[in-house]
Amino acid sequence: MNDTYTRSFSLECDKEKCNECKSNLVFISCNKCASGLCLNHSCCWEFPHYYNTQYYLCNTCYTYIDNKLINYDQLLIYNFIKQNTIIKRRHSC
Ligand SMILES: [Zn+2]
Ligand SMILES: [Zn+2]
Repeated sequence: MNDTYTRSFSLECDKEKCNECKSNLVFISCNKCASGLCLNHSCCWEFPHYYNTQYYLCNTCYTYIDNKLINYDQLLIYNFIKQNTIIKRRHSC
């Protein structure tokens, strides 16, 4: 079962193209919307994250956040609030 899953997943990756430029192969995924991205600087935005990890945003998410004038720190808070709102909504149902 695991073997089948791994094989189909890698086949999926082989033909997957960057969600922004639609030409380069996917190397990373957006930390917000999970779109596949290449490492081209016009496609992805890279931010330093905790424990020497990187936080990636696709150009679409970056533009969306930029339009709303939310900076990187506020983005993390925004995600936290959003997650909590979803949990609260589930409880009220
Ligand atoms: Zn790209
Ligand atoms: Zn995105």
